[in-house]
Parts: sequence; C-alpha cells; structure tokens
Amino acid sequence: MSSTPSSSTNTTKVRLLEQTPAIAGQFSEFVENADWQSVTRSHEEKTEQDVLRALGKNKLNVDDFTALISPAAEPYLLEMVDKSEKLTLQRFGNTLSLFAPLYLSNTCANECTYCGFSMSNAIKRLTLNESQVQKEVRAIKSKGFDHLLLVTGETNKVSMPYFERMIPHIKPHFSQLSMEVQPLDTAEYKTLQTIGLDGVLVYQETYRRKTYLEHHLRGNKSNFNYRLDAPDRIGQAGIHKIGLGVLLGLEDWRTDSVMMAHHLRHLQKRYWRSRFSVAFPRIRPCEGGIVPKSVISDRQLVQLIAAWRLFDRDLEMSLSTRESAEFRNHAVRMGFTTMSAESKTQPGGYADDSQEALEQFEISDERSVADISAMIRSQGREVVWKDWDPALSNSK
Ligand code: SF4
Repeated sequence: MSSTPSSSTNTTKVRLLEQTPAIAGQFSEFVENADWQSVTRSHEEKTEQDVLRALGKNKLNVDDFTALISPAAEPYLLEMVDKSEKLTLQRFGNTLSLFAPLYLSNTCANECTYCGFSMSNAIKRLTLNESQVQKEVRAIKSKGFDHLLLVTGETNKVSMPYFERMIPHIKPHFSQLSMEVQPLDTAEYKTLQTIGLDGVLVYQETYRRKTYLEHHLRGNKSNFNYRLDAPDRIGQAGIHKIGLGVLLGLEDWRTDSVMMAHHLRHLQKRYWRSRFSVAFPRIRPCEGGIVPKSVISDRQLVQLIAAWRLFDRDLEMSLSTRESAEFRNHAVRMGFTTMSAESKTQPGGYADDSQEALEQFEISDERSVADISAMIRSQGREVVWKDWDPALSNSK
C-alpha cells in the first residue's frame, strides 16, 4: 500500500470530510437488513397493473423497476425497448462511445469459481512492466481509443505502488481512464484520482452473501462487506464515475438486479457529484468454469437493459465483447452508451495476441474496431472516442 505524501495529508483529510455525505450509512447495512426471499417474492408477485403503472411514469422508483424486470412485463418488451431507445437518444444523442480494456496483470490471490485467473488454475502468469505497458498503450492508441479501462487480478503484488508507478505512463495518452481492480480504501482512491483516475468499476458479482461465499473461496475477495462498501468509498473519495455490476447467472438475475437498483439509488443520494454506470456480464466459459445457476436468455437480457434505461435516463450502460456479435448488433439501439471493441483479455495481448492461455475468459465478439465502428455507423449512430474531459469534473 502506498502512503500519501505527508505534506498533503491534512489537505486530503479536509477534502474527504467535505465529500462525506450528509446521509449516513454504507450499503452493507441495507443488505444486512434485506431479506433475499422477500426481494425475490417482490418480482414474482408483480402484476400487469404494476407494469402499466411503471410504464406510465417519468420518474421510476425501485418498485417500478422491479415490475419492469418481472415476468409480468414480458408482453410489453417492444414498448419498453422503444421507450428505452428514445430516452437514450434524448439524453446521450445519436452516439455510442468505444473503450478498450487493458489487462495489466493476470496474477491473482483469489479463488473465484467462474474465473480463468483463479489462483489454483495452472496458467502462465504475467504482470506487465513499464515497457510492456507502453507497447500496449501504443497498440491500443493506434486503433483510435481514447477511453481506457485498466484491469488486473487481485493480489497485494499488484496494488497501490504498482498503480502509482504505471498510471503516469498511461494517463497522458487517454482522456478518460477507469479501473477495475481489487477494492481499495478511500484514501487510496483519492490518491489515484490525483494522478489521473476518472472512474472505478467494482462489480459485486452477487448481492446474496451465502451465494457470494460459495463462489469466492479464498483470498481477500471473500470479504463480502469490504467489496459491497467499495462504491461508497469511491464516492467519498470524489471519483468522477462509479460502475456497478452483477455477474448474471451466479444467482437469480432478477433478485440481484433489484438489489443493484437499490444500490444505485443509495449511492445517488449520497454522492450526487459522481456519474454512474452499470454493466451486464453473463457467465462465460473459462478455465475451470461453472454452469450458471440462473440462465438469463437473450430476450430477458433485452428486457433487463430496457428496464434499467427506463429506471434511470442518466445512467451510462456498457456492453462488453462477452456478448455475441449478433446480440451486440441489436444492442446498439437498445439504450447502451458504451461498448468495448476488439478486446484482449490477456496481459500484453494487444501487442502480441498469440498467448490465449493467459486469457480471463473467451470473448465472443471478435470483430475488429473498424468492423464494429462500421456496424455502429450502419445503424445511424456516430462513434465517439471521447465523451468526457477531466477539466469538466466538478471535483477539481
Ligand atoms: S474474478 Fe477477479 S478476483 Fe476472482 S479470480 Fe478472477 S481476477 Fe481474481
């Protein structure tokens, strides 16, 4: 773990106090008091009247969202998708932004049942050094990307000192830099913000503690509450964008989605300066992979995506290359604001993609950036490489 320079310690503390929310409480307190079975019943018992009421509203609450993802809303799918597309066009314009994930390391000290980077998987491990990172940056920039997502496994060997060393090599080349790494402390997030970090994604995987512990067998990730409260710490640190997600398939996807809707509202009430994004990863094949407990069909995923857009018109929604080319072609008009393209999920994969054994999971849409850009344009959308600049941040 890094230390904040002593000369700035007092200033950092003052800033953190200023950004401490007026409404107390971490999200883990909400989850402690929530009864999973009751949340499940809440979507199972929704009726057509509940769906129609939700469809007629401009400002939806979590109960309305629950109605829209319920089986009772299935006959209204076309209406939901149509409304979702219109709201997205009104709020975000006729655009779709592209980003690339940069896998810095596949070393991991955790055991997650669904992931190819799990500690016990006998794969070759690699953590990129400065010169390898620079090669990756050049390869990614040559494809036109200006928004980068840094991804690592979770281990103490790839933590704050490493991030503080690498980010200065990366940030000057990208207008937007996000990361998806292990949960950190508030002061650590603040430190990373000061050297250029704009967004942090921490996917909870599932909000059901029992199931979470069944799939996170060893390592720091088995600390359910520390992960659950990471978005609160990111908000307290004043990071510009906070990303949420569950791994669809680990648990009942509807119940997990209702819990994530509660999570989003909890954060929005407290960290109103931040922007929020959600993603929809479904379990994909990987080394030592598992069979999903709850399978979400393509049609149900479309319903879920439309429900999120109706629930929150300002929400950024992201789709990865885990989904098939065919699904992503249709998804362009559903409500998404960002997509990854030509992703490599092995460290060093952009400069040299010959080592598939290092991959976290197999990607499904393997088209080039040029092909994906052409597909987006063919549907009347403009491809955006840069949708935000740090100079626009309120917190600066
Ligand atoms: S999901 Fe993340 S923490 Fe779990 S094994 Fe994979 S890289 Fe490690």
